Amino acid sequence: MYDTAIIPKSYFVNVLTALAAMVEEQKDYLTKLDSEIGDSDHGVNLSIGFRDVMAKLPDLVEKDLDIPTLLSKSGMSLLSKVGGASGPLYGSLFRKMAIPVPGKNEVTFAEFCAMIKSGVDEIKRLGKAQIGDKTMVDALSPAVDALYSGMEQGLPPVEVLEGAVKAAEAGRDSVIGIVAKKGRAMRLGERAIGHIDPGTASSCMFLQIFLDEFKKLA
Ligand SMILES: [Mg+2]
Repeated sequence: MYDTAIIPKSYFVNVLTALAAMVEEQKDYLTKLDSEIGDSDHGVNLSIGFRDVMAKLPDLVEKDLDIPTLLSKSGMSLLSKVGGASGPLYGSLFRKMAIPVPGKNEVTFAEFCAMIKSGVDEIKRLGKAQIGDKTMVDALSPAVDALYSGMEQGLPPVEVLEGAVKAAEAGRDSVIGIVAKKGRAMRLGERAIGHIDPGTASSCMFLQIFLDEFKKLA
């Protein structure tokens, strides 16, 4: 089942396009979250990055680049255009999503899960954050675990992805009530308690887009 579900390149083009639209829509909300426990730039930074992704996307599509090249070039936009920590982290997510699928123009669902795992592993490596540090890892790491446990249970691919979104949201909510041990919010100490980490919030939104666009494939 996971080797027969084929995800075409157009899926990834649609995901990038939908992410850019989502970022514009959620920019003020994400910035508001970041103003509460960070430096108020999360939404704005992602918007700058995804505007650059969108500016370059038509050319990438026209050149008919393979999926990993499309993702790594889009990741470079986020890496190079965005300040703060989130741009480079999300940029690295897309760049490392490319690693498991060299040269591919379509991927299986199992490969897609491996791509997400590869990207999230890089975020964990770069950020050196653990579960409970109140960073995007608290959403992304449980999501990856849910992908693999969902496949182990033999769930249909859509349900595997739904499980990942739910796990990310549970992770996001699990760190609202604690202090941050990484990132800017760490300096706030107890004042970070009761606030949503902006990185966990945007991570949930990213995964929701992966799911929404996947449902459109059926
Ligand atoms: Mg910030």
